[in-house]
Amino acid sequence: NNEEAIAKVAAASADSGAPTIFDKIIAKEIPSTIVYEDEKVLAFRDINPQAPVHVVVIPKSRDGLTQLGKAEERHGDILGHLLYAAKLVAEKEGIVDGFRVVINNGPAACQSVYHIHLHVLGGRQLKWPPG
Ligand code: AMP
Repeated sequence: NNEEAIAKVAAASADSGAPTIFDKIIAKEIPSTIVYEDEKVLAFRDINPQAPVHVVVIPKSRDGLTQLGKAEERHGDILGHLLYAAKLVAEKEGIVDGFRVVINNGPAACQSVYHIHLHVLGGRQLKWPPG
């Protein structure tokens, strides 16, 4: 289907080191609705929300982390901070009692942007298993 096709095209350019759309969001060259920001991470509303609350949390510096599958031990601090930021976002959005954090890794998981990011989803009853 279309989602899978987009994911495959995105994966094909993933290792080029090319900037992604998230670099433009970090640089504020394209607009986003920022929910949380600190010196290391940025959280903004997803343009194609899958739940009433759908926020994307990214590191401001990609540092080789195009996807979780490329993580190295040195990335431990930023990975931990991303998860902590996800919790702060859930609190801010009033969903801390029930929310989901997702990382799509690679084409089989429909990753479409190769700058690591967490999805924070909530505001409705979420189903399990996910699609
Ligand atoms: P993934 O499919 O896991 O790689 O997630 C990428 C997410 O980024 C998708 O949910 C997109 O809807 C979202 N996205 C792409 N471009 C933008 C944008 N300009 N502003 C906000 N969210 C975006």
